[in-house]
Amino acid sequence: MKTMTCNQLGGACDQTFSASSFDEIAQMSRQHGMEMFQKKDAAHLEAMNKMQALM
Ligand SMILES: [Zn+2]
Repeated sequence: MKTMTCNQLGGACDQTFSASSFDEIAQMSRQHGMEMFQKKDAAHLEAMNKMQALM
């Protein structure tokens, strides 16, 4: 079982995601990011912009 936080994945809060594989964690964090995006959470929007700027 792996556990990672939103922060560790380039997000903006310390919500934790636990799953048996990194792929599942990545999927959970993406879904969390989408939810925060829909709530227009400023910290997450900024984190996402930064992530996109890096790519
Ligand atoms: Zn988050």
